[in-house]
Amino acid sequence: AIEVNGLNKFFNTNHVLKNIDIRVPFGEVVSIIGASGSGKSTFLRCLNGIETIHSGEIIINGVAITDNKVNINIVRQSIGMIFQNFNLFPHMTVLSNITLALQKVKRMSKAESEKASFRLLEKVGLEEKAESFPIQLSGGQQQRVAIARALAMNPRVMMFDEPTSALDPETVNDVLDVMKELALEGMTMVVVTHEMGFAREVADRVVYIDEGRIIEDGKPEDIFYNPKNPRLRDFLGKII
Ligand code: ATP
Ligand code: MG
Repeated sequence: AIEVNGLNKFFNTNHVLKNIDIRVPFGEVVSIIGASGSGKSTFLRCLNGIETIHSGEIIINGVAITDNKVNINIVRQSIGMIFQNFNLFPHMTVLSNITLALQKVKRMSKAESEKASFRLLEKVGLEEKAESFPIQLSGGQQQRVAIARALAMNPRVMMFDEPTSALDPETVNDVLDVMKELALEGMTMVVVTHEMGFAREVADRVVYIDEGRIIEDGKPEDIFYNPKNPRLRDFLGKII
């Protein structure tokens, strides 16, 4: 679960996140939408402890990561983070991309880690690509490997930053299908995406950020079919 109270973030004088309050209970899927530059990526980076914050409190799975005494590296192991550009290790096979952290962080043996990795590759439909290198895969396949790699750490929360926006249209659905399955299994997910189909079908809630502020937070049908804020109406008009 995620709890954010009064979060403010500046880059120098640029006030990028303004008094953000949000709660995401376990098992919920929240989609974050908003214009370019509104602060969506910065918000995810704050949740993951990558960015320092000016004020406020962020509690991830019961741990206040904004507390100086907390070891953020431990907390981060319970958070899976997926980026637009996959970030796989290019010089390693698909299998090694996944086994690496299992061996180094989870201290699994080679055999154990490979068994676990094959299970995850099967889950994302790519067991036959185990010995391929990332460059030999399509963008959608690479993104599914990135998801399998993140799942290997057994995260309790998954965060996605525009996971399909760098993909060819024909591979987008394979990635969305994997994300849908995760959602159905009860994974807690925060997904920055302009894929309205995903937001409408899968998200329990949609949060609209405008210039660093949460302006609307509600059920997908209310956000998409009955938006209250004129800026949100205008934004939806541009993307749908
Ligand atoms: P997009 O949809 O284009 O990905 P976004 O909503 O993710 O946009 P952010 O990347 O969070 O937006 O950026 C929010 C604001 O913070 C922008 O004004 C941006 O210029 C600024 N910003 C982001 N990262 C940095 C940084 N490392 N240093 C300084 N300013 C930054
Ligand atoms: Mg962004």
